[in-house]
Amino acid sequence: MRRIARPYTYGPEPVARCWWAQTVKTPVWPRPAGQLTADVAVIGGGFTGLSAALHLAEAGEDVALCEAEAPFWGASGRNGGFCCLGGAKADDAALAWRHGEDGRRDWHRTERAAVEFAGGLIDRLGLDV
Ligand SMILES: Cc1cc2nc3c(=O)[nH]c(=O)nc-3n(C[C@H](O)[C@H](O)[C@H](O)COP(=O)(O)OP(=O)(O)OC[C@H]3O[C@@H](n4cnc5c(N)ncnc54)[C@H](O)[C@@H]3O)c2cc1C
Repeated sequence: MRRIARPYTYGPEPVARCWWAQTVKTPVWPRPAGQLTADVAVIGGGFTGLSAALHLAEAGEDVALCEAEAPFWGASGRNGGFCCLGGAKADDAALAWRHGEDGRRDWHRTERAAVEFAGGLIDRLGLDV
């Protein structure tokens, strides 16, 4: 796999030296012993996996979340924390040129929906963010 950032980015150092690690006591996450059985196994405990596991569990599915390191160990625990519009590197003209006007509009709709989705989840669960 070709990675876009230098190796340091993918190791433990950025997490160990971040404000989160220095100020919040890390929980001891449970490790499964023996055989674990579930109808759905979600691999990876970042935003994607946690959201999938949460929504599956809320829908009544028997779900297990399997994380190799610790929840939020990956990109989700070392990002800038911005949840806003304007996340594309390409500007509007470039998006329209590459993907057409419909594609450009779809991008903006999806971006707005993602922010609203996160906001709705934060409100519904009363998350202190
Ligand atoms: C430096 C940086 C800054 C960023 N800033 C922003 C920002 O400000 N706003 C924004 O919206 N986005 C930002 N992003 C992007 C955003 O963080 C990612 O798009 C998002 O976190 C991806 O979430 P994910 O759950 O898909 O992946 P990840 O959070 O990387 O989660 C994947 C998880 O899977 C685990 N895993 C991998 N392989 C296995 C395996 N075989 N078995 C079990 N577990 C496994 C990993 O340990 C990891 O915890 C940033 C990203 C970076 C790196």
